[in-house]
Amino acid sequence: MRRVSVAGAIVIVAAVAAVAAVAAVAVTLLARELVGGGGRASLTVTVAGRSVHVVEGTTLAGAAARFGLQPRAGDVVDVNGQALRAGVVAGSFLVDGRPASPETRLRSGDRITVVDGHDRREPLVRRVVRVTGGMANNPQFTVSHTPGEQVIVKGALTHELLSVQFRPSGPARVEQAVALTFDDGPSPQYTPRILAALTRLRVRATFFVIGYLAEANPDLVRQELRLGMAVGNHSYNHPEVPPFAQLPPQLLTDEIALGEQVLSRLGARPHLFRPPGGSTSPRLVAAAAALGQRVVLWSVDPADWRPGRRAKEIVKRVLAAVRPGSIVILHDGGGDRSATLAALPAIVRGIRRRGLHLVALTANPRAAQGATGGP
Ligand SMILES: [Zn+2]
Repeated sequence: MRRVSVAGAIVIVAAVAAVAAVAAVAVTLLARELVGGGGRASLTVTVAGRSVHVVEGTTLAGAAARFGLQPRAGDVVDVNGQALRAGVVAGSFLVDGRPASPETRLRSGDRITVVDGHDRREPLVRRVVRVTGGMANNPQFTVSHTPGEQVIVKGALTHELLSVQFRPSGPARVEQAVALTFDDGPSPQYTPRILAALTRLRVRATFFVIGYLAEANPDLVRQELRLGMAVGNHSYNHPEVPPFAQLPPQLLTDEIALGEQVLSRLGARPHLFRPPGGSTSPRLVAAAAALGQRVVLWSVDPADWRPGRRAKEIVKRVLAAVRPGSIVILHDGGGDRSATLAALPAIVRGIRRRGLHLVALTANPRAAQGATGGP
């Protein structure tokens, strides 16, 4: 008791004066804490923001055990934040903001902080790959390709993709080609006739089909594929109000994903998405890209869907606007398509007379296998 602090002495006096047994026990415990079991002086330290007393000579490890301080260990996580190895990144203690060993003897006024182990992401590998044939723009308005390379970043442990970025190395190259595209089918009434006309004309075109119609008419989609047509995604339900790009994010993603699922089941591979009404935004392009889809719009629109539009008018409007790289929007569903059907031979002849060939849209060419960069 010789080295007891002033505060401790007062407590002891109070303990002697106390009559109630309960009060005496409580005060004795407090006194013991202040002077220590071996009669050593106490130190006041701050542990995790709380002011506490420990006996002189207490180590950091001792204080941690005594106050039940246990930093949470962090995980090694993959590129998506999923735990690969749980609890392997140890936490630590800081004394006055500095790392300290467990044997460190505490001094009065020390501040002990518990630091949880931070989750650590798996190492990343980065590859730079030249894209032979170049990439189409996204959103795509014309048949053109930009030369460049892809920077691919993956998790070194899981090989899961973190990001792919395209770095152009030159200006876009417009092809001496035109793509005819047909939206809003498949239609049992018009799609077979449009397919027959395209086959007679030896034209490969692209059909952007509506998911629920493709589900109802799977054989028409299979026929399109068999005849060498490209089949793209035009959403599942074709919602028009509000404009597609303004749909709530989850609904927008669901529309793209559901349409794509129907096409995948039928074996369509180009992974092209045309939003209903051509409604687009950077958010929509990002949502489609996250699902592996490129957004395809158009550069020539004869408005063949307008009621009363005649075949001659459709031909004139297409041929007046078409040039190398044009993507032309037509329709094989959604109403009376007889004018569109009747206009096809003259459209195809007119385009070919300009020395342009007709192509189906394709997925981006696969990146060349030879990587030019390391991790
Ligand atoms: Zn449409």
